[in-house]
Amino acid sequence: MADANCLFCKIVEKQIPSSIVYEDDHVVAFKDISPQVPVHLLIVPRVHIASLNDLTPVQSTLLGHIALVAKELAKTAEIDESGWRLVMNCGPHAGQTVFHLHMHLLGGAPMAGKMV
Ligand code: 5GP
Ligand code: ZN
Repeated sequence: MADANCLFCKIVEKQIPSSIVYEDDHVVAFKDISPQVPVHLLIVPRVHIASLNDLTPVQSTLLGHIALVAKELAKTAEIDESGWRLVMNCGPHAGQTVFHLHMHLLGGAPMAGKMV
């Protein structure tokens, strides 16, 4: 199911190194290489899904699982009370740069402005 040309598939398969903070049968979470806030994690499904545009109904339960993993990781990082944000970028106008579905978990400092 891995895409040989996909950076996050290679991270999931541990073909290239990353700072993995959590993994289970369905997802892997690791530190973003270019953190935008003190806590900046990426949570990705093991299976290659290019973006939300490609998500199928069967795969949609992954999103709930990612949310639960994010909740636990926020607690572990001790940002559950101070606040955190989950972001998914889909496509060019949203600024998606890696086409393997991922959720950004952001926190650890006040975030400038509200996007929505
Ligand atoms: P996007 O812009 O697609 O929503 O998010 C992609 C994220 O992947 C960016 O925040 C970027 O810093 C991160 N990223 C890109 N290459 C690597 C890498 O090789 N390792 C890690 N850990 N993160 C990466
Ligand atoms: Zn992939």
